[in-house]
Amino acid sequence: MKVFTREFTVTSRGRREVINITDYVEAAVRESGVRNGLVLVFLPHATAGLFANEDEPRIRKDYEGLFERLVPENGDYEHNKIDNNADAHLLASLFKQFFVLPIIDGRIVRGTWQEILLADFDGPRTRRVVVLVLGE
Ligand code: ZN
Repeated sequence: MKVFTREFTVTSRGRREVINITDYVEAAVRESGVRNGLVLVFLPHATAGLFANEDEPRIRKDYEGLFERLVPENGDYEHNKIDNNADAHLLASLFKQFFVLPIIDGRIVRGTWQEILLADFDGPRTRRVVVLVLGE
């Protein structure tokens, strides 16, 4: 079995921003040469999350609306007494910091409207993304 790792970074420009990382993950899988196996995408951060869904401008606005309804940016939070980003930690806790996808015949299996999206809840900042490909 082959084990291949790749790390890349993405930089957000706004406080809350959704970044499409599908191309980076697909490139890592291609580079790995793995035809059948699994790809693990891991985000070593406590104020960002991953999800797989559609990427177009209007649904992006709707994601922003959802984030604000789930955890208002200007709420009254205990953590803000020591660090001004409680809302980002709380939102990240509702999302996953990892994603596992199947690779079949050299391609990641995903739905037509399933892009791999990174949600930064505490930007602007640079985020590390670790990709681990397992298989043969
Ligand atoms: Zn904090």
